[in-house]
Amino acid sequence: MSKVELDQLRGRVDELNLELLKLINERAQLVQEIGRAKETQGVYRYDPVRERSMLDLIKEHNDGPFENSTIDHIFKEIFKAGLDLQKDDHSKALLVSRKKKAEDTIVNVKGELIGNGIPHFVFGPCAVESYEQTATVAKAVKEKGLRLLRGGAYKPRTSPYDFQGLGLEGLKILKRVADEFDMAVISEIVNPADIETACQYIDVIQIGARNMQNFELLKAAGAVNKPVLLKRGIAATIEEFINAAEYIMAQGNGQIILCERGIRTYERATRNTLDISAVPILKKETHLPVLVDVTHSTGRRDLLLPAAKAALAIGADGVMAEVHPDPAVALSDAAQQMNLDQFDEFYNELKAFAYARV
Ligand code: PEP
Ligand code: MN
Repeated sequence: MSKVELDQLRGRVDELNLELLKLINERAQLVQEIGRAKETQGVYRYDPVRERSMLDLIKEHNDGPFENSTIDHIFKEIFKAGLDLQKDDHSKALLVSRKKKAEDTIVNVKGELIGNGIPHFVFGPCAVESYEQTATVAKAVKEKGLRLLRGGAYKPRTSPYDFQGLGLEGLKILKRVADEFDMAVISEIVNPADIETACQYIDVIQIGARNMQNFELLKAAGAVNKPVLLKRGIAATIEEFINAAEYIMAQGNGQIILCERGIRTYERATRNTLDISAVPILKKETHLPVLVDVTHSTGRRDLLLPAAKAALAIGADGVMAEVHPDPAVALSDAAQQMNLDQFDEFYNELKAFAYARV
């Protein structure tokens, strides 16, 4: 074959490529139109029966040289690309995503602006055990000029025989302490039916790691006008974590704080593995503030300070840690809560580190 003939064939291939391009884009436009029509009818987009009949029709007309299996493969890719195009409207722009909203969300918790660029700290006991115990910690936290207090009233425990929390009584103690010390209180709710009641007593609804994919709970928290602190699930990917937040926001509640609290890996030196790189990923992918819980991630008092510094250094909006007046007798997480002296030392060092950076 001469050079001229070869160039002619190549020119024809180029023409066909452009024709194919035009045709697949024309097809894509039709698919989008069908997608929009299905959306208004509330019909699920993927239709395997329709896909099968399209493939059969194509193969009936296949005179080669491509084998049917190759034709199958090529057209399935075209079908899939069309389906992805229909999905794009949703998956590419979650409500919690930066794509949807470029500016940082600032969550206002009784005047504490979480996500405003200044680090915020959430301290308090693992569980509310009594008024005295909670008030003692509240006083120590408030003396540092801090106003965010945590404390569990409903404790999701590994064993059903372990302390389960004081329940509503615990929420009442938190409310009393919040009023007396002018603080905002954060507490975990585990049952969707308790969300409404809890709103009367607490300032932030915490959804714990074990409930990150409790979709009914997420929806219930999304239906109220109260900030939500959502913790990453024990074995949740970042994508699952972001989608859990989306469940809340899809119901109308955009006041969401994400909290990285470590994930389960094969490493046993720490209680969980603090996935520190999740922080900048979450900050990049979403517009929500991100906290790091150094207590449940490390499970080790000696690692609280370095982990907290790492959290701030990598861009977290704040840190959560547990403080108890007498950790040795705490009804939960006795091994890792700080006592008041340890808390003093921890906070002084962390504050110096944080302000040296602001
Ligand atoms: C908690 O913060 O009290 C708690 C139980 O944490 P997590 O859900 O992250 O285990
Ligand atoms: Mn705890």
